[in-house]
Amino acid sequence: KQDDERDKDKADRATSEQVLDQRTRMILLQMINRGAVSEVHGAISTGKEANVYGAVSYDEETGAATQRAVKVYKTAILVFKDRERYITGEHRFKGGFDKGNSRKMVKLWAEKEYRNLRRIHGAGIPSPEPLALKLHVLVMGFLGDGKGWAYPRLRDANLKGDDVDQQWQSLYAQLLGTMRRMYQVCKLVHADLSEYNILYHDGQLYIIDVSQSVEPDHPRSLEFLRMDIKNVGDFFRRKGVDTLPDRAIFNFITVPEGPVEEPGMAEAIAKLYETRPSAANEEEAAAEEVDTEVFRNQYIPQTLEQVYDIEKDVKKLGLGEGSDLVYSKLLADQVVAPKPEGEGEEADQDASEDESEEGASLGS
Ligand code: ADP
Ligand code: MG
Repeated sequence: KQDDERDKDKADRATSEQVLDQRTRMILLQMINRGAVSEVHGAISTGKEANVYGAVSYDEETGAATQRAVKVYKTAILVFKDRERYITGEHRFKGGFDKGNSRKMVKLWAEKEYRNLRRIHGAGIPSPEPLALKLHVLVMGFLGDGKGWAYPRLRDANLKGDDVDQQWQSLYAQLLGTMRRMYQVCKLVHADLSEYNILYHDGQLYIIDVSQSVEPDHPRSLEFLRMDIKNVGDFFRRKGVDTLPDRAIFNFITVPEGPVEEPGMAEAIAKLYETRPSAANEEEAAAEEVDTEVFRNQYIPQTLEQVYDIEKDVKKLGLGEGSDLVYSKLLADQVVAPKPEGEGEEADQDASEDESEEGASLGS
């Protein structure tokens, strides 16, 4: 059994090399037979978690070629281990997943990207159109020119003209509007938003790489949103853009009242600039900076479980403290004094749950 496991491991790792493994080739062949794509070309991008290939689909009648992008998730285990935090706690994936089965996991990621793209593209946000999905292979619309050149990432965008500063400023506003629309209409937080996962063409931003995006009810969605806001702000500030404070953007994105499409959103953003404290006043500027820092480090509880640290509180009660706890009466009967540090069964359990590779199922 040990040997089988090792062979399987080897086979899984093969996908993480540049060559396509047998299973992936079979899936691509099937997709070709079904007409989702006609030809698969070279890699546009080889990443830690996935490779993206250029592809072409020929119209059966006219023969006209349409570019496609094919994202192939890698079945290597290690990278995905870290991504569990995005799935745990999301109701769409209740029951978690079998950490021991990397194939299932990559299938889940491809599925998640497909479903999130459907929502985002469906809401009219510029993004790849999801076209076909089979196991860990996703076919989507190609963001690039007719010759197969993909649009540059925002990071590499080469803006031209004598109003470049103004262009950056308006791209920033465009992105804030997109983030709000994504949150309010798609009910999604990107959760890996940065200049690397946005493509740029002709004044337009395109959102990509959404397999890790989560719904607002995910226990860490607001934390991810705050991270997205910080990344976006950092990037645009480097481009000389006059950015808004993180907290103001956070409110702009999450407040349900207000417009969810243009030109309303751009107007709402303009209003945020008008009403903000003047940065000319040094004191106010310093206060704002402190506030942003506080905001970034603030803990935003979203569920009762987060508000109440049950384990810690139980310990407190066990030590005869905790009369200040709101639920002290509720718990008082059930409490058993905790074991000394190091021998706690809870600690042991935690450790064994973290061991993901050995086929241990997370269960529900
Ligand atoms: P990763 O998980 O590896 O970051 P991404 O979805 O970000 O995967 O894609 C990696 C790169 O592949 C992108 O930076 C972009 O250059 C290219 N790419 C991805 N999707 C498309 C697409 N639909 N059209 C054109 N290029 C794409
Ligand atoms: Mg990416």
